[in-house]
Amino acid sequence: MLNFNLTEEQQKLQQKARSFALKEVLPVAWYYDEQDELPMEVLRKAFDAGMIGSDIPKEFGGQGLSLMDSALITEEIAAACPGLATSIFDSSLGMEPILLSSNTDAKNKYLPAIAKDFKLAAFATSEPTMGSDVAGIRCRAVADGEDYILNGTKYWITNGGVADYLSVFATIDPKSRHEGICAFLLETKWPGITIGRAIPKMGQRCSNTVGINFKDVRVPKENILAPPGEGFVLAMKTFARTRPIIGSFGVGAARAALEYALDYAKKRRAFGMEISAFQAIQFKLAEMYQKVETSRLLTWKAAWDSDQQLDGRVSASISKLYATETALEVVNEALQIFGGYGYTKMFPIEKILRDVRLLRIYEGTSEIQRLILADYLLKEYQSALPPLEDLPLHRLHDPRNEKAASSAGKVWRCRICGHVHYDETPPVECPYCFFPHTAFKEIQ
Ligand SMILES: Cc1cc2nc3c(=O)[nH]c(=O)nc-3n(C[C@H](O)[C@H](O)[C@H](O)COP(=O)(O)OP(=O)(O)OC[C@H]3O[C@@H](n4cnc5c(N)ncnc54)[C@H](O)[C@@H]3O)c2cc1C
Repeated sequence: MLNFNLTEEQQKLQQKARSFALKEVLPVAWYYDEQDELPMEVLRKAFDAGMIGSDIPKEFGGQGLSLMDSALITEEIAAACPGLATSIFDSSLGMEPILLSSNTDAKNKYLPAIAKDFKLAAFATSEPTMGSDVAGIRCRAVADGEDYILNGTKYWITNGGVADYLSVFATIDPKSRHEGICAFLLETKWPGITIGRAIPKMGQRCSNTVGINFKDVRVPKENILAPPGEGFVLAMKTFARTRPIIGSFGVGAARAALEYALDYAKKRRAFGMEISAFQAIQFKLAEMYQKVETSRLLTWKAAWDSDQQLDGRVSASISKLYATETALEVVNEALQIFGGYGYTKMFPIEKILRDVRLLRIYEGTSEIQRLILADYLLKEYQSALPPLEDLPLHRLHDPRNEKAASSAGKVWRCRICGHVHYDETPPVECPYCFFPHTAFKEIQ
């Protein structure tokens, strides 16, 4: 049964997140964007307001919110600042491999600290020479007794400069690709870990992004999240749960741009009237609105799939792909509605455009989402309709006249061009594509 109503608790949660976003995020977002700085005090406030790590199960001291709840929170914060939304959500990304692993000791030790003590977790698969190709990880994990020694560099690590914990994916042998990938939970204060300088970025400048180097970092066996051969699947399972939230970033950012554009269009005058009176502007607004609404439905569906323990890989990819691509289109059209002012730093659109551009890149680029969907279609998708060569298209016989249809004799279809031949035998060759009779298949 379908139900698109939010529960009373979810409506309260949405309202709470909106109030937090309007009070604590929106007023400071442009300042920290200009400063290229992650405001830790805002993260602290987000933690105190229950917006960070809220999806940690109650048994580990968290609120046990669903992914659907997280999608509601994230949309509101992203509407105020996609960069801060990234940093606020990042701890959920960082702790997801712990949650999904079978290492109960690590869960008992680290999840309560994230839930209760404002400890931040970050997530690290990407490296300076690798992002999309997760099986191509080079960071080396060498067994030393039951421990592992890590050497290598991770790059693009969101919150890496401020995180206490890191979910790190490494390999026992780069040549073994998927089979070699393993995962560990590291504490950033451990010896041998060096945090790089904050990477200067085009947008999402309120979020911290760094490289992290590991030199002979000893990881005790208690901190293994996935042994060699199981790390790749763990990373993919993590993405299946986190990609819907990237979709929510897109929904929030696009909704903000739409709301600003709507406001501007109702006030800006040209040719003696408000520009909202022009049908060209109305059509833009209508397109933007339908994209925001569609994106929200897709992200909610993907989050719901995950909450129902269904296989959410495909819906996660669809929501991430659609919501992030349309977010860019919506923000771009908002900028157009603002005219020249859209291109200035005096109005919010240029920042949202810079921020939103990242969404098509991290947590699997749009191209990678398309690869995932194409792979699913080609290998797993179950068609409901019959194969083309078995299609019962009897164009010459009236289906209401059963007698005529049954006296039609045999029917053959050319598998190459689709021509249908009515006779006891197939033709010697197809009169359209000239393939021989062997190309014909009898259909019922
Ligand atoms: C600000 C920021 C924050 C990030 N945060 C994190 C983080 O916290 N943790 C983390 O691990 N990573 C993080 N990333 C890394 C991010 O996930 C990668 O940048 C992303 O996966 C793409 O990898 P890449 O940059 O190496 O590009 P590449 O993989 O080198 O790809 C380059 C281009 O080629 C395309 N491409 C690659 N392979 C294929 C293919 N088979 N078919 C078609 N096209 C292909 C890509 O789509 C892309 O357009 C972050 C990145 C940024 C910019």
